[in-house]
Amino acid sequence: MNYNKKSIEDIEVAGKRVLCRCDFNVPTKEGKITSDKRIKAAMPTIEYLVNKGAKVILCSHMGKPKGEWKPELSLKVVAERISELLGKEVIMANDVAGEDSKAKAAAMQNGDVMLLENTRYIKGETKNDPELSKALADLADIFVNDAFGTAHRAHSSTAGVADYLPAVSGYLVQKEVSIMGKALANPERPFVAILGGAKVSDKLNVINNLLEKVDTLIIGGGMAYTFMAAQGYSVGKSLVDNEKLDYCKEMMAKAQAKGVNLLLPVDTAIAESFPSPIDAEIPVAYCDCTEIPADQMGLDIGPKACEAFAAAAKSAKTVVWNGPMGVFENPTLAKGTIAVAQALADSDAVTIVGGGDSAAACEQLGFADKITHISTGGGASLEFLEGLELPGIACLQDK
Ligand code: AMP
Repeated sequence: MNYNKKSIEDIEVAGKRVLCRCDFNVPTKEGKITSDKRIKAAMPTIEYLVNKGAKVILCSHMGKPKGEWKPELSLKVVAERISELLGKEVIMANDVAGEDSKAKAAAMQNGDVMLLENTRYIKGETKNDPELSKALADLADIFVNDAFGTAHRAHSSTAGVADYLPAVSGYLVQKEVSIMGKALANPERPFVAILGGAKVSDKLNVINNLLEKVDTLIIGGGMAYTFMAAQGYSVGKSLVDNEKLDYCKEMMAKAQAKGVNLLLPVDTAIAESFPSPIDAEIPVAYCDCTEIPADQMGLDIGPKACEAFAAAAKSAKTVVWNGPMGVFENPTLAKGTIAVAQALADSDAVTIVGGGDSAAACEQLGFADKITHISTGGGASLEFLEGLELPGIACLQDK
């Protein structure tokens, strides 16, 4: 896939109506936004368009209203927040691309900003319905995609609309694509990838694709026990995906054939059962992964593995990390995940953290400033690592 895409700086936007897809899927509680991180992430693009004198028509989804007009998922609160950040009024449309949006779009002056209602209020959105794509396109002259978090979805507002308008990336999408695209296509070596999370089956294609590119692949988290079982070790009551044992063998053979250093944890935190509730205090012991007792389960990487993984991350020039090393929701079982986050923060390498749990861990630990790039897209960044074409990026004009 070509990641060399045109951005807002490569197209004349002054005086034009610009439909800009953002990720305003912010968490709310009792009608109030509890984190405006995603809104702030979109501000550089919005400010650029306003300063250039475009008529800026913003759109996004929020939650999963599934075609129903659910008032608690209205974007009105987002319009208010953008208005505060921008220091100017944001016009709120009462529909997605209906009569109200059309009338308000027609009345916009250069530099005005309008926000459409939740795109998922319309059933056709997630079906990439051409009728909705066309209606959205009719509001504008140019389409800007700045929603990396939904770039792996082919929906009307993320990809379909680009069938009818010249389409370019916003700053956020541009940053995601250039950093992650370069890391995968032309990484500074040694290139180390660290994968964790619960199941091997969720990361099959990621493992396969990364083995084509990396010098070292580190596997921790629940996934690691299936790899150990595939090597013939008994892993007690640890999470094992029995249907994926052959796959793991295949991947280990592939790593060997390609000269990739495949690192599995040498030791593990063990407990009698999974903590319930997940953050409950439980007795935890440590043992080598070759000696897990039959009545115990592995729930985090052990101290030797922490050291080995951290050393690999520190000696790398590029590190990509996706997925926790253990049941990080539990403070006693978060040590492996914290050690990896710390190693990335301490590393001089280009460090890239995929979205979701690992991104949240880095932010909660206060390491965000020490990581080169924390992706804003969980699912999207994973599909990126799989080497898949993301519809919301593929639809943009090549440079
Ligand atoms: P994923 O959604 O695949 O990224 O996996 C994240 C989840 O994996 C987290 O909720 C962790 O609690 C869980 N997890 C990590 N390590 C283990 C493990 N050793 N056993 C069971 N679950 C785990």
